Amino acid sequence: MKYVDSNFIEDVVYELCIKANTLFDPDLYNALLQKYKNSLNIDDKTKYTNILNNINLAAESKRPLCQDTGQVVVFIESGNKVVITNKTINNAVNDGVNKAYTNNFYRKSVVKNAIFDRTNTKNNTPVLIYTDIVEGDKINIHLMVKGAGSENCSAVKMFTPGVSREEIFSFIKDSIIRSGEKSCPPLVLGIGIGGTMDYAALLSKKAFFHILEADEKAFVADLLKYLGDTASNILDIRLMTSSTHIASLPVALTFNCHSMRHASCVINGDSVVYKPKKKNNFLRIENDFSAKEILCSDIAALSSLKSGDNFLLTGEIYTARDAAHKKFKEYYDLNKKLPVDFKGKIVFYAGPCPAAAGEIIGPIGPTTSARMDEYCELMYSNGLFASVGKGERSNEAKNIIEKYKGRYFIAQGGIACLLSKCVKHAEIVAFDELGTEAVRKLYVERLPLKVVI
Ligand code: SF4
Repeated sequence: MKYVDSNFIEDVVYELCIKANTLFDPDLYNALLQKYKNSLNIDDKTKYTNILNNINLAAESKRPLCQDTGQVVVFIESGNKVVITNKTINNAVNDGVNKAYTNNFYRKSVVKNAIFDRTNTKNNTPVLIYTDIVEGDKINIHLMVKGAGSENCSAVKMFTPGVSREEIFSFIKDSIIRSGEKSCPPLVLGIGIGGTMDYAALLSKKAFFHILEADEKAFVADLLKYLGDTASNILDIRLMTSSTHIASLPVALTFNCHSMRHASCVINGDSVVYKPKKKNNFLRIENDFSAKEILCSDIAALSSLKSGDNFLLTGEIYTARDAAHKKFKEYYDLNKKLPVDFKGKIVFYAGPCPAAAGEIIGPIGPTTSARMDEYCELMYSNGLFASVGKGERSNEAKNIIEKYKGRYFIAQGGIACLLSKCVKHAEIVAFDELGTEAVRKLYVERLPLKVVI
């Protein structure tokens, strides 16, 4: 038997959290670099330049690649000849994540209960842990950091055995198209096929750590062919398949953005080997992006912009996302004065990481705007000038924004380290208790945005 101290496992998990959040997979980096080189227009070139430079900045500054430092998902393969001493392995994993997220000023994004108590647990636990007992005396740990923007685009479909490949491919293609910009493409798509509905979903996550078998490789190649132009939204496709019931053929998709954050290791007694996840010396790329700078106070200039225009925003804006908007609604319903007067103002749908020592703000970036659609009437009818987020708005939200002559701008997702450099001042002005979801007043300089509405 081999004895492994749970305190050692806790330290290893702590390290895995740092590696996953700040370092980037070299193969995916090369795939991004290829996309950069193949870019045919300035918008795409700028997008990939930002992504690549954000990866460099995160590694240099040891700060998270994205402000959504996610829900942590851990897969453990524990040898049947391993004895874990002191705490349980689950407690060790949770303690490692708690310490890593607290000590390193990562965003805590986990709430106590999905339906009955959406209070933030404030330490990013509990972790979702899946354990398999395997032959041997070692422990393999795979850790992934799962952001919600892409996760919310995930899908599962229960096909039956008579289904054609084309029907499965069509489901995958439709799901990719539907995810749009919400999932911060290009995507790393995880596909799970087999088992039951829940098992297929699990396979679609395990797929990120799985080496493709020959027939799985051929399936992915056929799928990429089928996707045609839609494949430009794909960085990589991972697939894991298994046995299933004679009457079933479940297919599950886990959407992962380009900011695919993961780390692995093998523990052997009191030593550990991390799977290749070390700082890489990626090249910094010059950004040719140029656009006019406009002050937040210059409503006339902002109003004259057309949809598709890029610009750089300078001035005072406010952050507010799901929980703050819910509170605004409660205030309006009770006829209470809002803590901030949003007339003529710009709201950035964003929840930053906490600031580390010497930082004005932690990594910050846009969250999915569609979740704020239900508050559009409330906010724009009360004078809000513009919102900034990512992804498409519903037709209803579009109509409301147009009705009040408001604007909707988008910021690029998944480049939170870079965007944090545009913030020159930050202070919490309301709902401090909401943590990352508190309302902040920011002074931004040359924040790169695009007009959508
Ligand atoms: S890159 Fe986009 S989808 Fe991915 S975690 Fe960040 S905000 Fe979410």
